[in-house]
Amino acid sequence: MPETKIKKTDDFNEWYNEIVELADLCDKRYPIKGMNVWRPYGWKLMSHVDRLIREEMIKTNHHEVCFPLLIPESSFKKEEEHIEGFGSEVYWVTHAGLNELEERWLLRPTSETAMYPVFSLWIRSHADLPLKTFQIVNTFRYETKQTRAFIRVREIHFFEAHTCHVDFEDAENQVKEDKEIADRLFKKLSLPYILSKRPDWDKFAGAFYTISIDVLMPSGRTLQLGSIHQYKDNFSKPYEISYETEDGTHANCHQTTYGMSERILGALIGIHGDNKGLVMPPEVAPVQVVVIPIIFKGKEKPVFNACDALCKKLGESSIRSHVDKRDITPGNKYYNWELKGVPLRIEIGPKDLEKKEIVIVRRDNSDKRSVSQESSVNVIKDELDKISKNLYGNAKKYLDENMHRVNDIKKAKNLKGIIELPWCGTDDCALKIEDILDGNTLGEPIEDVKCIDTCPVCGKSATTWMRYAKTY
Ligand code: ZN
Repeated sequence: MPETKIKKTDDFNEWYNEIVELADLCDKRYPIKGMNVWRPYGWKLMSHVDRLIREEMIKTNHHEVCFPLLIPESSFKKEEEHIEGFGSEVYWVTHAGLNELEERWLLRPTSETAMYPVFSLWIRSHADLPLKTFQIVNTFRYETKQTRAFIRVREIHFFEAHTCHVDFEDAENQVKEDKEIADRLFKKLSLPYILSKRPDWDKFAGAFYTISIDVLMPSGRTLQLGSIHQYKDNFSKPYEISYETEDGTHANCHQTTYGMSERILGALIGIHGDNKGLVMPPEVAPVQVVVIPIIFKGKEKPVFNACDALCKKLGESSIRSHVDKRDITPGNKYYNWELKGVPLRIEIGPKDLEKKEIVIVRRDNSDKRSVSQESSVNVIKDELDKISKNLYGNAKKYLDENMHRVNDIKKAKNLKGIIELPWCGTDDCALKIEDILDGNTLGEPIEDVKCIDTCPVCGKSATTWMRYAKTY
Protein backbone atom coordinates (compact mmCIF):
# COMPACT_ATOMS: atom_id res chain seq x y z
CA MET A 1 0.00 0.00 0.00
CA PRO A 2 1.31 3.48 -0.82
CA GLU A 3 2.21 5.84 1.96
CA THR A 4 1.36 9.54 1.65
CA LYS A 5 2.91 10.97 -1.51
CA ILE A 6 5.03 13.38 0.47
CA LYS A 7 7.02 12.10 3.42
CA LYS A 8 6.68 13.97 6.71
CA THR A 9 10.40 13.73 7.21
CA ASP A 10 11.17 15.22 3.75
CA ASP A 11 8.86 18.22 3.64
CA PHE A 12 6.78 18.73 6.75
CA ASN A 13 4.71 21.66 5.50
CA GLU A 14 3.68 19.95 2.27
CA TRP A 15 3.01 16.69 4.09
CA TYR A 16 0.72 18.61 6.48
CA ASN A 17 -1.24 20.20 3.64
CA GLU A 18 -1.69 16.82 1.99
CA ILE A 19 -2.70 14.91 5.09
CA VAL A 20 -5.49 17.25 6.25
CA GLU A 21 -7.33 16.51 3.00
CA LEU A 22 -6.41 12.82 2.58
CA ALA A 23 -7.60 12.08 6.12
CA ASP A 24 -10.94 13.83 5.49
CA LEU A 25 -10.46 16.50 8.14
CA CYS A 26 -11.37 19.53 6.08
CA ASP A 27 -12.19 20.68 2.58
CA LYS A 28 -10.28 23.74 1.40
CA ARG A 29 -12.29 24.19 -1.80
CA TYR A 30 -14.80 26.60 -0.20
CA PRO A 31 -14.73 29.80 -2.29
CA ILE A 32 -13.48 32.06 0.53
CA LYS A 33 -9.79 31.57 1.30
CA GLY A 34 -9.06 30.67 4.91
CA MET A 35 -12.64 29.59 5.57
CA ASN A 36 -12.50 25.82 5.31
CA VAL A 37 -15.30 23.29 5.56
CA TRP A 38 -15.13 20.92 8.51
CA ARG A 39 -15.72 17.42 7.19
CA PRO A 40 -17.44 14.91 9.51
CA TYR A 41 -14.22 13.21 10.65
CA GLY A 42 -12.47 16.51 11.38
CA TRP A 43 -15.48 17.90 13.19
CA LYS A 44 -15.76 14.75 15.35
CA LEU A 45 -12.13 15.12 16.30
CA MET A 46 -12.60 18.80 17.18
CA SER A 47 -15.72 17.91 19.19
CA HIS A 48 -13.70 15.52 21.33
CA VAL A 49 -11.14 18.26 22.04
CA ASP A 50 -14.03 20.61 22.91
CA ARG A 51 -15.46 17.96 25.20
CA LEU A 52 -12.20 17.80 27.17
CA ILE A 53 -12.19 21.60 27.45
CA ARG A 54 -15.84 21.66 28.59
CA GLU A 55 -15.10 18.99 31.22
CA GLU A 56 -12.25 21.12 32.58
CA MET A 57 -14.42 24.24 32.62
CA ILE A 58 -17.24 22.51 34.48
CA LYS A 59 -14.79 21.02 36.98
CA THR A 60 -13.47 24.52 37.77
CA ASN A 61 -16.90 26.18 38.09
CA HIS A 62 -16.94 28.08 34.81
CA HIS A 63 -20.35 28.58 33.19
CA GLU A 64 -20.95 28.31 29.46
CA VAL A 65 -22.47 31.32 27.69
CA CYS A 66 -23.08 32.24 24.07
CA PHE A 67 -22.77 35.86 23.02
CA PRO A 68 -23.82 37.35 19.66
CA LEU A 69 -21.43 37.29 16.73
CA LEU A 70 -21.91 40.98 15.87
CA ILE A 71 -20.45 43.81 17.91
CA PRO A 72 -21.41 47.50 17.49
CA GLU A 73 -18.49 49.75 16.57
CA SER A 74 -19.07 51.94 19.66
CA SER A 75 -18.60 48.95 22.01
CA PHE A 76 -15.48 47.85 20.17
CA LYS A 77 -13.87 51.29 20.44
CA LYS A 78 -13.94 51.66 24.21
CA GLU A 79 -10.50 50.22 24.98
CA GLU A 80 -7.83 52.03 22.98
CA GLU A 81 -5.02 49.47 22.85
CA HIS A 82 -7.51 46.78 21.93
CA ILE A 83 -8.66 48.67 18.81
CA GLU A 84 -5.07 49.33 17.82
CA GLY A 85 -4.29 45.62 18.06
CA PHE A 86 -7.34 44.31 16.20
CA GLY A 87 -8.41 47.26 14.03
CA SER A 88 -6.78 46.05 10.84
CA GLU A 89 -8.03 42.46 11.25
CA VAL A 90 -11.79 42.85 11.58
CA TYR A 91 -14.58 42.28 9.08
CA TRP A 92 -17.26 44.99 9.02
CA VAL A 93 -20.96 44.71 8.40
CA THR A 94 -22.11 47.96 6.80
CA HIS A 95 -25.55 47.13 5.39
CA ALA A 96 -28.74 45.46 6.59
CA GLY A 97 -30.95 44.60 3.65
CA LEU A 98 -30.86 47.61 1.34
CA ASN A 99 -30.11 50.11 4.10
CA GLU A 100 -26.74 51.35 5.15
CA LEU A 101 -26.38 50.94 8.92
CA GLU A 102 -26.17 54.08 11.03
CA GLU A 103 -23.49 52.39 13.10
CA ARG A 104 -21.23 49.71 11.62
CA TRP A 105 -21.09 46.24 13.20
CA LEU A 106 -18.08 43.94 13.22
CA LEU A 107 -17.68 40.17 13.33
CA ARG A 108 -16.07 39.27 16.67
CA PRO A 109 -12.30 38.74 16.41
CA THR A 110 -12.55 37.80 20.14
CA SER A 111 -15.39 38.66 22.52
CA GLU A 112 -14.17 41.15 25.14
CA THR A 113 -16.03 44.02 23.56
CA ALA A 114 -19.22 41.97 23.13
CA MET A 115 -19.24 40.66 26.68
CA TYR A 116 -17.99 43.48 28.85
CA PRO A 117 -20.83 45.99 28.33
CA VAL A 118 -23.14 43.16 29.46
CA PHE A 119 -20.88 42.12 32.36
CA SER A 120 -21.19 45.69 33.65
CA LEU A 121 -24.96 45.05 33.93
CA TRP A 122 -24.61 41.60 35.49
CA ILE A 123 -22.15 42.56 38.21
CA ARG A 124 -23.51 44.71 41.00
CA SER A 125 -22.01 43.57 44.27
CA HIS A 126 -19.06 41.57 45.61
CA ALA A 127 -21.53 38.70 46.00
CA ASP A 128 -21.69 38.42 42.18
CA LEU A 129 -17.96 37.65 42.06
CA PRO A 130 -16.05 35.80 40.85
CA LEU A 131 -17.90 35.61 37.54
CA LYS A 132 -16.43 32.73 35.53
CA THR A 133 -17.74 32.23 31.99
CA PHE A 134 -16.64 30.59 28.77
CA GLN A 135 -17.88 30.01 25.25
CA ILE A 136 -16.84 27.90 22.26
CA VAL A 137 -17.73 29.83 19.09
CA ASN A 138 -16.31 30.90 15.77
CA THR A 139 -14.35 34.14 15.51
CA PHE A 140 -13.17 36.04 12.45
CA ARG A 141 -9.84 37.62 11.65
CA TYR A 142 -8.74 38.97 8.32
CA GLU A 143 -5.45 37.13 7.73
CA THR A 144 -3.25 38.56 5.02
CA LYS A 145 -0.50 35.94 5.38
CA GLN A 146 -0.74 32.60 3.60
CA THR A 147 -3.49 30.50 5.16
CA ARG A 148 -3.00 26.93 6.39
CA ALA A 149 -5.71 24.51 7.59
CA PHE A 150 -6.29 24.75 11.38
CA ILE A 151 -3.11 26.84 11.82
CA ARG A 152 -3.82 30.11 10.03
CA VAL A 153 -7.45 30.60 9.03
CA ARG A 154 -9.88 33.49 8.77
CA GLU A 155 -12.81 31.81 10.48
CA ILE A 156 -11.51 30.29 13.69
CA HIS A 157 -13.11 27.67 15.93
CA PHE A 158 -12.34 29.34 19.26
CA PHE A 159 -12.56 28.72 22.98
CA GLU A 160 -12.55 31.76 25.26
CA ALA A 161 -12.97 31.94 29.04
CA HIS A 162 -13.65 35.35 30.61
CA THR A 163 -13.54 35.89 34.35
CA CYS A 164 -14.11 38.85 36.70
CA HIS A 165 -12.68 39.12 40.21
CA VAL A 166 -12.71 41.35 43.27
CA ASP A 167 -9.02 42.21 43.04
CA PHE A 168 -5.67 41.54 41.39
CA GLU A 169 -4.80 38.71 43.73
CA ASP A 170 -7.98 36.78 43.01
CA ALA A 171 -7.36 37.24 39.27
CA GLU A 172 -3.83 35.90 39.82
CA ASN A 173 -5.35 32.78 41.39
CA GLN A 174 -7.37 32.35 38.22
CA VAL A 175 -4.19 32.49 36.14
CA LYS A 176 -2.80 29.76 38.38
CA GLU A 177 -5.90 27.63 37.85
CA ASP A 178 -5.63 28.20 34.09
CA LYS A 179 -2.10 26.78 34.14
CA GLU A 180 -3.34 23.68 35.98
CA ILE A 181 -6.08 23.26 33.37
CA ALA A 182 -3.46 23.43 30.59
CA ASP A 183 -1.41 20.81 32.40
CA ARG A 184 -4.30 18.33 32.59
CA LEU A 185 -5.70 19.05 29.12
CA PHE A 186 -2.46 18.80 27.15
CA LYS A 187 -1.43 15.62 28.99
CA LYS A 188 -4.61 14.02 27.66
CA LEU A 189 -3.69 15.21 24.17
CA SER A 190 -0.13 13.89 24.58
CA LEU A 191 1.18 17.37 23.75
CA PRO A 192 4.14 18.71 25.74
CA TYR A 193 4.23 22.54 25.71
CA ILE A 194 6.09 25.49 27.13
CA LEU A 195 4.69 28.54 28.90
CA SER A 196 6.30 31.91 28.20
CA LYS A 197 5.52 35.39 29.44
CA ARG A 198 5.28 37.46 26.29
CA PRO A 199 7.34 40.64 26.17
CA ASP A 200 5.35 43.88 26.59
CA TRP A 201 5.49 44.76 22.90
CA ASP A 202 3.96 41.42 21.97
CA LYS A 203 1.26 40.91 24.60
CA PHE A 204 -2.48 40.75 23.85
CA ALA A 205 -3.91 44.15 22.96
CA GLY A 206 -5.13 45.65 26.25
CA ALA A 207 -3.67 43.02 28.59
CA PHE A 208 -1.51 43.68 31.66
CA TYR A 209 0.46 40.56 30.80
CA THR A 210 0.11 37.54 28.51
CA ILE A 211 1.31 33.96 29.00
CA SER A 212 1.49 31.96 25.80
CA ILE A 213 1.19 28.20 25.41
CA ASP A 214 3.49 27.04 22.61
CA VAL A 215 4.35 23.65 21.15
CA LEU A 216 7.27 22.76 18.93
CA MET A 217 6.27 21.40 15.52
CA PRO A 218 8.44 18.90 13.58
CA SER A 219 9.49 21.70 11.21
CA GLY A 220 11.36 23.32 14.12
CA ARG A 221 8.83 26.16 14.27
CA THR A 222 6.70 26.80 17.34
CA LEU A 223 2.92 26.96 17.18
CA GLN A 224 0.99 28.99 19.73
CA LEU A 225 -1.97 26.93 20.92
CA GLY A 226 -3.38 29.26 23.51
CA SER A 227 -2.87 32.14 25.85
CA ILE A 228 -3.74 33.22 29.35
CA HIS A 229 -4.17 36.94 29.95
CA GLN A 230 -4.20 38.99 33.14
CA TYR A 231 -6.11 42.21 32.34
CA LYS A 232 -5.93 43.84 35.78
CA ASP A 233 -8.58 46.61 35.53
CA ASN A 234 -7.55 47.69 32.02
CA PHE A 235 -10.91 46.70 30.53
CA SER A 236 -13.16 47.10 33.56
CA LYS A 237 -12.42 50.85 33.70
CA PRO A 238 -13.55 51.78 30.17
CA TYR A 239 -16.40 49.23 30.30
CA GLU A 240 -17.40 50.31 33.83
CA ILE A 241 -17.45 46.80 35.31
CA SER A 242 -17.57 47.73 38.98
CA TYR A 243 -19.11 46.35 42.15
CA GLU A 244 -20.11 47.41 45.64
CA THR A 245 -17.59 46.20 48.19
CA GLU A 246 -18.46 44.80 51.60
CA ASP A 247 -18.03 48.21 53.22
CA GLY A 248 -20.26 49.97 50.70
CA THR A 249 -17.64 51.62 48.45
CA HIS A 250 -17.21 50.88 44.74
CA ALA A 251 -14.30 49.16 43.02
CA ASN A 252 -13.40 47.99 39.52
CA CYS A 253 -13.18 44.28 38.78
CA HIS A 254 -9.92 42.60 37.79
CA GLN A 255 -10.26 40.32 34.81
CA THR A 256 -8.60 37.40 33.06
CA THR A 257 -9.15 35.54 29.83
CA TYR A 258 -8.05 32.17 28.53
CA GLY A 259 -8.08 31.42 24.82
CA MET A 260 -7.43 28.34 22.70
CA SER A 261 -8.38 27.41 19.18
CA GLU A 262 -8.52 24.77 16.45
CA ARG A 263 -4.74 25.12 16.31
CA ILE A 264 -4.78 22.26 18.84
CA LEU A 265 -5.80 20.06 15.88
CA GLY A 266 -2.89 21.46 13.90
CA ALA A 267 -0.57 20.35 16.70
CA LEU A 268 -2.15 16.88 17.00
CA ILE A 269 -1.78 16.32 13.26
CA GLY A 270 1.72 17.72 12.99
CA ILE A 271 3.34 16.35 16.13
CA HIS A 272 1.90 12.82 16.24
CA GLY A 273 1.43 12.05 12.52
CA ASP A 274 3.84 9.98 10.39
CA ASN A 275 4.39 8.95 6.77
CA LYS A 276 1.29 6.74 6.88
CA GLY A 277 -0.97 9.57 8.06
CA LEU A 278 -2.50 10.76 11.32
CA VAL A 279 -1.84 9.16 14.70
CA MET A 280 -4.61 10.19 17.06
CA PRO A 281 -4.21 10.20 20.85
CA PRO A 282 -6.85 7.74 22.14
CA GLU A 283 -8.53 10.39 24.29
CA VAL A 284 -9.80 12.32 21.25
CA ALA A 285 -9.71 9.72 18.45
CA PRO A 286 -13.20 9.65 16.85
CA VAL A 287 -12.72 5.87 16.48
CA GLN A 288 -10.41 4.38 19.11
CA VAL A 289 -10.56 0.79 17.90
CA VAL A 290 -11.35 -0.38 14.38
CA VAL A 291 -12.29 -4.02 13.96
CA ILE A 292 -11.50 -5.67 10.59
CA PRO A 293 -13.21 -8.97 9.81
CA ILE A 294 -10.95 -11.30 7.81
CA ILE A 295 -13.44 -13.00 5.55
CA PHE A 296 -13.33 -16.29 3.66
CA LYS A 297 -16.21 -17.33 1.40
CA GLY A 298 -18.91 -19.15 3.31
CA LYS A 299 -17.42 -18.31 6.71
CA GLU A 300 -18.55 -14.66 6.95
CA LYS A 301 -21.28 -15.04 9.52
CA PRO A 302 -19.40 -16.28 12.61
CA VAL A 303 -16.63 -13.72 11.94
CA PHE A 304 -19.09 -10.81 11.63
CA ASN A 305 -20.85 -11.99 14.78
CA ALA A 306 -17.59 -12.10 16.74
CA CYS A 307 -16.69 -8.58 15.51
CA ASP A 308 -20.09 -7.19 16.50
CA ALA A 309 -19.92 -8.89 19.89
CA LEU A 310 -16.51 -7.36 20.59
CA CYS A 311 -17.75 -3.88 19.62
CA LYS A 312 -20.71 -4.25 21.94
CA LYS A 313 -18.41 -5.19 24.82
CA LEU A 314 -16.11 -2.25 24.05
CA GLY A 315 -19.09 0.12 23.96
CA GLU A 316 -20.11 -1.06 27.42
CA SER A 317 -16.66 0.03 28.62
CA SER A 318 -17.04 3.44 26.86
CA ILE A 319 -14.51 2.58 24.16
CA ARG A 320 -15.39 4.01 20.72
CA SER A 321 -15.13 1.24 18.13
CA HIS A 322 -16.27 0.45 14.61
CA VAL A 323 -16.52 -2.74 12.53
CA ASP A 324 -15.48 -2.13 8.93
CA LYS A 325 -17.71 -4.46 6.89
CA ARG A 326 -17.13 -2.75 3.55
CA ASP A 327 -16.65 -4.99 0.54
CA ILE A 328 -12.99 -4.06 -0.06
CA THR A 329 -9.77 -5.92 0.75
CA PRO A 330 -8.45 -5.95 4.34
CA GLY A 331 -5.28 -4.28 3.00
CA ASN A 332 -7.29 -1.34 1.74
CA LYS A 333 -9.04 -1.07 5.07
CA TYR A 334 -5.72 -1.05 6.96
CA TYR A 335 -4.45 1.71 4.71
CA ASN A 336 -7.62 3.76 5.21
CA TRP A 337 -7.70 3.59 8.99
CA GLU A 338 -3.97 4.12 9.35
CA LEU A 339 -4.38 7.31 7.34
CA LYS A 340 -7.09 8.40 9.78
CA GLY A 341 -4.88 7.65 12.77
CA VAL A 342 -7.09 5.11 14.58
CA PRO A 343 -4.98 4.05 17.61
CA LEU A 344 -5.75 0.30 17.58
CA ARG A 345 -6.71 -2.14 14.86
CA ILE A 346 -8.23 -5.53 15.67
CA GLU A 347 -8.24 -8.35 13.14
CA ILE A 348 -10.58 -11.31 13.54
CA GLY A 349 -10.58 -14.28 11.12
CA PRO A 350 -11.83 -17.89 11.23
CA LYS A 351 -8.47 -19.16 12.58
CA ASP A 352 -8.54 -16.62 15.42
CA LEU A 353 -12.06 -17.77 16.27
CA GLU A 354 -10.90 -21.38 16.52
CA LYS A 355 -8.19 -20.35 18.96
CA LYS A 356 -10.57 -17.95 20.79
CA GLU A 357 -8.19 -15.10 20.06
CA ILE A 358 -8.04 -11.70 18.38
CA VAL A 359 -5.09 -9.90 16.75
CA ILE A 360 -4.22 -6.41 18.02
CA VAL A 361 -2.10 -3.93 16.00
CA ARG A 362 -0.92 -0.60 17.40
CA ARG A 363 -0.91 2.44 15.11
CA ASP A 364 1.91 4.27 16.92
CA ASN A 365 4.61 1.56 16.70
CA SER A 366 3.04 -1.22 14.53
CA ASP A 367 3.35 -3.79 17.36
CA LYS A 368 1.19 -6.81 16.54
CA ARG A 369 0.10 -9.61 18.86
CA SER A 370 -2.63 -12.13 19.56
CA VAL A 371 -4.58 -12.05 22.80
CA SER A 372 -7.37 -14.21 24.16
CA GLN A 373 -10.92 -13.06 23.48
CA GLU A 374 -11.64 -13.31 27.15
CA SER A 375 -9.07 -10.70 28.18
CA SER A 376 -9.58 -8.50 25.11
CA VAL A 377 -11.34 -5.50 26.70
CA ASN A 378 -8.79 -5.14 29.47
CA VAL A 379 -5.88 -5.56 27.09
CA ILE A 380 -7.36 -2.95 24.73
CA LYS A 381 -7.82 -0.45 27.57
CA ASP A 382 -4.25 -1.04 28.62
CA GLU A 383 -2.90 -0.64 25.08
CA LEU A 384 -4.79 2.64 24.55
CA ASP A 385 -3.20 3.96 27.71
CA LYS A 386 0.26 2.86 26.53
CA ILE A 387 -0.25 4.59 23.16
CA SER A 388 -1.16 7.81 24.88
CA LYS A 389 1.99 7.67 27.03
CA ASN A 390 4.20 6.68 24.11
CA LEU A 391 2.98 9.61 21.99
CA TYR A 392 3.64 11.98 24.85
CA GLY A 393 7.08 10.48 25.46
CA ASN A 394 8.13 10.82 21.82
CA ALA A 395 6.92 14.41 21.61
CA LYS A 396 8.59 15.32 24.91
CA LYS A 397 11.88 13.83 23.75
CA TYR A 398 11.74 15.92 20.57
CA LEU A 399 10.93 19.08 22.55
CA ASP A 400 13.72 18.49 25.08
CA GLU A 401 16.26 17.78 22.35
CA ASN A 402 15.36 21.01 20.59
CA MET A 403 15.37 23.47 23.50
CA HIS A 404 18.70 25.16 23.91
CA ARG A 405 19.91 27.44 26.68
CA VAL A 406 23.08 29.12 25.42
CA ASN A 407 24.94 32.35 26.12
CA ASP A 408 26.28 33.45 22.77
CA ILE A 409 24.52 34.32 19.54
CA LYS A 410 27.00 32.59 17.23
CA LYS A 411 26.22 29.27 18.87
CA ALA A 412 22.50 30.09 18.79
CA LYS A 413 22.54 30.73 15.05
CA ASN A 414 23.42 27.11 14.29
CA LEU A 415 20.68 25.62 16.44
CA LYS A 416 17.20 24.49 15.50
CA GLY A 417 14.11 24.83 17.69
CA ILE A 418 13.68 27.02 20.76
CA ILE A 419 16.64 29.08 21.91
CA GLU A 420 17.04 30.78 25.29
CA LEU A 421 19.57 33.60 25.55
CA PRO A 422 20.38 35.89 28.50
CA TRP A 423 18.30 39.10 28.38
CA CYS A 424 18.97 42.48 29.94
CA GLY A 425 15.30 43.48 29.75
CA THR A 426 15.42 46.11 26.98
CA ASP A 427 13.31 45.88 23.81
CA ASP A 428 16.18 46.88 21.53
CA CYS A 429 18.43 43.98 22.49
CA ALA A 430 15.69 41.36 22.07
CA LEU A 431 14.61 42.81 18.73
CA LYS A 432 18.20 42.81 17.51
CA ILE A 433 18.49 39.11 18.39
CA GLU A 434 15.21 38.44 16.55
CA ASP A 435 16.85 39.93 13.46
CA ILE A 436 20.08 37.96 13.80
CA LEU A 437 18.30 34.65 14.40
CA ASP A 438 15.59 35.43 11.86
CA GLY A 439 13.03 34.36 14.48
CA ASN A 440 10.53 35.77 16.96
CA THR A 441 10.63 36.35 20.69
CA LEU A 442 8.42 33.88 22.52
CA GLY A 443 8.87 35.46 25.92
CA GLU A 444 10.52 34.76 29.26
CA PRO A 445 10.26 31.34 30.93
CA ILE A 446 7.77 31.24 33.82
CA GLU A 447 9.91 28.93 35.92
CA ASP A 448 13.66 28.50 36.21
CA VAL A 449 14.25 32.12 35.17
CA LYS A 450 17.46 32.87 37.11
CA CYS A 451 20.23 34.07 34.82
CA ILE A 452 23.72 35.18 35.88
CA ASP A 453 25.13 35.73 32.37
CA THR A 454 25.43 38.98 30.45
CA CYS A 455 23.23 40.19 27.57
CA PRO A 456 24.92 39.07 24.34
CA VAL A 457 24.03 42.36 22.63
CA CYS A 458 24.81 45.18 25.10
CA GLY A 459 27.01 43.29 27.58
CA LYS A 460 25.02 44.45 30.61
CA SER A 461 24.10 41.87 33.21
CA ALA A 462 21.03 39.87 32.26
CA THR A 463 17.98 39.78 34.51
CA THR A 464 16.34 36.77 32.88
CA TRP A 465 16.27 34.55 29.79
CA MET A 466 14.44 35.33 26.57
CA ARG A 467 13.18 32.61 24.25
CA TYR A 468 13.37 32.83 20.46
CA ALA A 469 12.04 30.56 17.74
CA LYS A 470 10.78 30.57 14.22
CA THR A 471 6.99 30.60 14.54
CA TYR A 472 3.85 29.79 12.57
ZN1 ZN B 1 21.01 44.07 26.33
